[in-house]
Parts: sequence; structure tokens; C-alpha cells
Amino acid sequence: MTTQDFPELTPKVVLGVAAHPDDLDFGASGTLAAFAAKGAAVYYLLLTDGSKGTSDTSVNADDLVKTRQQEQRAGIQAIGGKDVKFLSYKDGELEVTMDVKRDIAREIRALKPDVVITMDPSVLYSAARGMINHPDHRAAGQATLDAVYPLARDHLSFPELFAAGFEPHKVSTLLLINFNDQNYTVDVSQTIDLKLQALEAHASQMPDMAKTKATVRDLAATIGGKSGYQFGEGFIRIDIPA
Ligand SMILES: [Zn+2]
Repeated sequence: MTTQDFPELTPKVVLGVAAHPDDLDFGASGTLAAFAAKGAAVYYLLLTDGSKGTSDTSVNADDLVKTRQQEQRAGIQAIGGKDVKFLSYKDGELEVTMDVKRDIAREIRALKPDVVITMDPSVLYSAARGMINHPDHRAAGQATLDAVYPLARDHLSFPELFAAGFEPHKVSTLLLINFNDQNYTVDVSQTIDLKLQALEAHASQMPDMAKTKATVRDLAATIGGKSGYQFGEGFIRIDIPA
């Protein structure tokens, strides 16, 4: 499948699920801003407390958590999103457990998103780019896939959620953030500046903001260029039949 083979996405509600503050703004905020501009209600669910994300030895974990939450609130505001929820699983220790899956399934049932965006859990490393995918990213993606299908969909999964009024919900489309491989590109030419603004909010994570922004812009130009857009964000898109 290529971008052209998919029907256009015009979601009413979009939920992004990721491990850390800044993950969604790096991977998908141009797309999330484009959805918001077309009227979608955009929500973020961040699974960890982000308490490990610094190399500054003068920073303590409690202050870092507060700083990163403020940064993420500013980030989602920049792209016109509605709300962000923070869970408090420990940064660096996220695992694919039923508790994590239940928390995600609860949010899916509460918000009823048409589109869910998360990290592609199949990305373990990239030899070409010399990187190992953060284990929290993989766990967040895996738990989210499991929550979308089948756990949010079936009332007999997590019966305690159903008993508490969280009706089952079917998500129509998954967009998986995967920097190595994509089958779908979203045109973010109109929203690249909002994406860069969202990234600017995460000052604690970007020691060289100008360089980071230039790298992100170049990557968006490369990905977009393949589909004839000035700027693009690429995903693995999965449409789930009703
Ligand atoms: Zn991360």
C-alpha cells in the first residue's frame, strides 16, 4: 500500500499514546496539528512520568517530572490539541502489563477515538541510523496495539471497565510512528511550523534546539518529498475493518 491507496483521514477524535513527553511531538505533531485544524479533538496519553530524561546531574527527578509535564502542556497547546493525561509508570521501566493495557483501554473507551497514533513496537533498532529504540517506546506501542485490539473492543475484556460505564469502542485506524519504514505520508506543509513550535516547548530535552529543529525539518522535507509534499510525516497506517 502507498499513501495514494488509502482513503483520506478526517477523524473527529484522535488519541496519541506514547511513553514520554515529547515522543508525540517528535513523531506526529505535524499530523496531529493538521487533524486539529480540520476540527478533530486531539488528546495525548503519556504513560511514564518522564523522570529519567536528563543528563544534567543537578536536576532531581521530581523537578524534572514537573518541568516535562509543563513542556508537554505547552507542546499540545501549540498544535491545537485538547488535553493531555499523564500516567505515572516509571520512566525507563515501562512494561507491557495488563495494568498498562487497562489504562489505555479505559482512555480509548472514554474518548472513542477514530484514529489512534502510537509508536511502532516492531522497531527494535536501526543499524543504519545507529540507534536502539527506547524500550519504553516499544512497550507503549505494544500495549496500545493490544488495547486497541481486542481489549477496548470487547465488553468481556476488562469487565470492570464495562461495569463502570466504559462502553466498548472500535478504533478505525492506527498510525504507527516508524522512522525506518512508512506506507502512508501525511502532508504537513501547513503545520510544520506548529510542529517546530511544539518541539520548542520541550526545552529540557533539546540541548541544541536549532540543530534539532533543522534535523526535524530536513527529515519532514525528505519524507514529504517522496509523496510530492513540501513537508510530510510518515507512518505505518493500519485500517481496521468495522
Ligand atoms: Zn521517548
